[in-house]
Amino acid sequence: GWRSRAAFKLIEIDDRFHLIRPGMRIIDLGAAPGGWAQVAVKRGAAQVAGVDLLPVDPVSGATLVEGDFTDPEMPQRLIDLLGGPADLVMSDMAPNTTGHSATDHMRIMGLAEGALDFATEVLAEGGSFIAKVFQGGSERQMLDSMKRAFATVRHVKPPASRKESSELYVVATGFRPERL
Ligand code: SAM
Repeated sequence: GWRSRAAFKLIEIDDRFHLIRPGMRIIDLGAAPGGWAQVAVKRGAAQVAGVDLLPVDPVSGATLVEGDFTDPEMPQRLIDLLGGPADLVMSDMAPNTTGHSATDHMRIMGLAEGALDFATEVLAEGGSFIAKVFQGGSERQMLDSMKRAFATVRHVKPPASRKESSELYVVATGFRPERL
C-alpha cells in the first residue's frame, strides 16, 4: 500500500500530466514518509533520489537521504545518486504549520521558491517540476521566473487535496536553462 495519503495527489497529478515516464531520473524533495517515491518507482522511474529532514524507511528502488534540501551540497549529492541530471524534480515540502495563516503561507512559499532554485540546478533540458504552493499572495515573482525557465506552467488542485486547504500544486514542463 501507499505510505501516505499524499501519494494519491501525485497519482492524480501524473494521470493528468503524464510527467513520470519509464527510465527517468527523479528527485523528491520532502520525501518522508515515502509515498511520492513509491509512486515514482511504481510508474517506472529508473532512479529516484530524495531528501527529508526526517528519516524515511527504505523504499525499494529509491535512495532517500536524511538532510535539509537547502544544504549547499545537496544538489550535487542527489545528482551523483541519480548518475546524472534529473528529468523531474518534485517537491511536496511543507513547513510545520504555526496556525497563523499568513506565516504558514510565507513559509510554504519560501520552500517552493527554494525548490525552484534547486530544480534549476539539477534539471536536464526539457525537464519538469512539480511543487506544492499556496493559493493567493506572493506567488507572482516565482511565477514570472518559472514562465521564463519553462515552456508551460500550470496550477492544479488534485481531488485528493482537501477542499478547505489552500494548497495547490504548480506543474512546469519543458525546462529551458538558456532562459534563466
Ligand atoms: N510526499 C510525501 C509522501 O508522499 O510521503 C509527503 C511529504 S510531507 C507533506 C512534507 C515533508 O517536507 C515533511 O516530511 C518535512 O519534513 C519535509 N521538509 C520540510 N522542510 C524541509 C527541508 N528544508 N528539507 C527537507 N525536507 C523538508
